[in-house]
Order: sequence, then structure tokens, then C-alpha cells
Amino acid sequence: MQREPHLNNAALFARREAAIPRGVGHSHQIFIDRGENAEIWDVEGQRYIDFAGGIAVLNTGHRHPAVVEAVKAQLDRFTHTCFQVLAYESYVELAERLNAMAPGDFAKKTLFLTTGAEAVENAVKIARSATGRSGVIAFGGGYHGRTLLTMGLTGKVVPYKAGFGPFPSEVFHALFPNALRGVSVDDAMDSIEAIFKNEIEPSRVAAIIIEPVQGEGGFNIAPPELLQRLRALCDQHGILLIADEVQTGAGRTGTWFAVEQSGVAPDLITMAKSLAGGFPLAAVTGRADVMDAPTAGGLGGTYAGSPLACAAALAVIDVFEKENLLQRSRDVGQRLTNGLRAIAAKHHSIGDVRGMGAMVACELFKNGNPQEPDAALTKRIATEAAARKLILLTCGTYGNVIRILVPLTASDALLDEGLAIIAECFDAALAS
Ligand code: PMP
Repeated sequence: MQREPHLNNAALFARREAAIPRGVGHSHQIFIDRGENAEIWDVEGQRYIDFAGGIAVLNTGHRHPAVVEAVKAQLDRFTHTCFQVLAYESYVELAERLNAMAPGDFAKKTLFLTTGAEAVENAVKIARSATGRSGVIAFGGGYHGRTLLTMGLTGKVVPYKAGFGPFPSEVFHALFPNALRGVSVDDAMDSIEAIFKNEIEPSRVAAIIIEPVQGEGGFNIAPPELLQRLRALCDQHGILLIADEVQTGAGRTGTWFAVEQSGVAPDLITMAKSLAGGFPLAAVTGRADVMDAPTAGGLGGTYAGSPLACAAALAVIDVFEKENLLQRSRDVGQRLTNGLRAIAAKHHSIGDVRGMGAMVACELFKNGNPQEPDAALTKRIATEAAARKLILLTCGTYGNVIRILVPLTASDALLDEGLAIIAECFDAALAS
């Protein structure tokens, strides 16, 4: 394909630096021209494998034909009305489908929004309205967004919270279990009891919010026992349990919702990211009685549940069914885990390989010691990978986790190609 001579990554990056605030961080200095399934091409015509998937947004890949077709058909009818002003069937149909898919043998309702942070904000608003209480308990290492309330719920200070406070009061942080660092489920539950004793009585707590697998925090998996004990604790005290499935939802972990794998039904579930295969759409699905607590007009938003995004999301759910993508998610996860374990067998800087379905990560330590996270090596691997035309993401409280969120529609051959590049990156980084 012919390129304009001025379209090169370096020149565009210089323009970006001049035009875009520093706070919008960057992982790579690459400008994309187009994407297809799990591959992208930059403005210089170079081809990359995409193991980042738009940060868990592209479970069905770049430009899945069924999603493109559904959105094009919607574009030909109408693009926007604001659902509160003029309703459309796709919003209702998508809500019906998510209500049926969410765990829990009770009536459910769904609210649509635009971003993950907005979904979390609204889940808290709904929980406060339904309980008449204000307290919220979140977990250390958790990530819930960049708005004022969701920053308050988020654990990590730099870069997410630094300089942005003060944060909303009535937010408390419990310990998230971490076997590598000696934090057990008992410790986590004890930390909540300590909050009840020292900070806020349970009768004033509206909700406990948890990611079934912490995403930005480093792919830390909540043991099923933790979710089950949280469910029991919430029931005991009339507290609502919110599962933040913004990153884990929409099939990433091998089930549509990660929480299904622990047999727990939360009162409210937040979703976003892959729900609409690349279109901005977020949702809160929950108990109908709880969802109905806020006053009419208290929920919604101009773009919330845009018809284009609803059309895309209905197509995404159909693609999951037709292409058996939940099974594929588990298979992709197994292949990636095996691949990373093979690399770890050679490179002892990889101290842990873990995942749930196709949400797979490895954690890097110095001297194989979990107390010595190796953020520098992690960054180096991601940089080496980009140079070898593989887009990789890092994450984690200590910045020492490499995470993979590749489209579930990627072929085995492409997964193997990406894994081989990761292996090369470790060889290169550790040889020098
Ligand atoms: N919750 C979780 C678990 C997330 O992973 C994210 C995004 N990384 C958010 C909330 C915020 O979503 P958004 O960026 O769409 O506001």
C-alpha cells in the first residue's frame, strides 16, 4: 500500500507530544494504520501481532466481519437518539440477553453506559440508593477507573491517583489475597473485619467491590473461596456484592463472566471493554429490585448504550455462540500458559505464570524472589517485543507483570509466533 511520505511513526509521535497532554501515557511510539483480527499494520506498513487487544477490548479481534456488518447496517438506519429520549429495540434486546447470561437465579435488569469507570460509578450509585448506606469496600491493588470515585476505589497511587485528590470519603481498602506474597484468604477476610471494627460499621456499608481477577493490578486471581466468603459476609450484613468484570467479562476468562467459575452470583456486575468488540459500551447488570432503586432520571447519559454500540454488542454475543469462543478462550489460555511455562523453565526471572482462560500473565522477579519485582526487565521485554513486531502489555502494582489479552479469534499459528517472539525477547534481554 502506498504511504504519504510524512506518515511515519517518529513524525506523528512528535506531533503527539506537542498536541496531547503528558498525562495520556504511551506504551509504544507506534501509530496504527489498520487492524485485522489479531494483526495490525502501522503507518509505515509494518505488520505486528497484537497481544494487547486494545487492553481486553478485542476478544473478537479487530474488525470482526459480523461486527462490522452489524454496525454498518445500524449506520444506515440511525446513529443516535439518546435512549432516554427515543428508545430503540437493540438496547432492550441486549439488556435481555445480558440479564439471561448473568449468574443468579433472580430477576435482573441492565443499565448501559459508555466506559468502565462510568459502569463502576453507577454500580456504586445504585448500591447506595438501594441500601441507603454510603460505605464502599474495595481491595488493595484493584483498579476501577480514572474518575474521582473510581480513583478512590483504585489502589495504586502512581500514576492513577497522584496529585488528583482529595478522594471521596467512605471508601476503604481490604487486602487482596496473594499467595506469592503470603497474603491468604483468611488475611483478606480479617482485613475486612478490621475495617468494620476500626473504620465503619457493616450496617453503614453499601457495597464490597472486587475484580474476580485483578487486571491492571497484575492478573491476581481471587480464589473462589474468597468470592464465596464475601458473598456470605455480604448476605450476613445486607451489603451488596459488586463484581467489576470490566476486564474479565465478555468471555475473556473462559466463561462469559469470570465470577461464574466460583459459583457466586454478585448483586451487581460491571462490564465494558470487549462487550461491544471495540465500540464504547459499558453495562451494569444486577438484581432487578436493586437496579430499580434510583429515581427515574437518576441513571443514564447522552451516549450511554449508543445504537451503534448495541448493534456491535449483539453481534459480539452471536459471534461467541457461532464460533464457540468460550471454549476457544480456555484453549487459547492453555496454549499461552504452556508457552510461557516453557520460557520460564529456561529463564528463572519468570517467577510465576498464571491466568484464567485467555487472561494470562507472567510475573518477573530478580533472583526468583517475589520480594524483588523486576519492573526494568519487564519494560525491556515489552520494548524488545515491539522491536520484533509483537505488541505486549505490562501491568501490576510493581510494574513487573507481562499480560496477554490477545483476540480469542487468533489462530494457533499466530499465538505460537507471538510466543516465539517472547522467548527471543527473554534470550536477548538476558544475554546483554
Ligand atoms: N474496572 C476495571 C477492572 C478495569 O480494568 C478498567 C479499565 N482498565 C476500568 C474499570 C475502567 O474502564 P474504562 O477505562 O473504560 O473507564
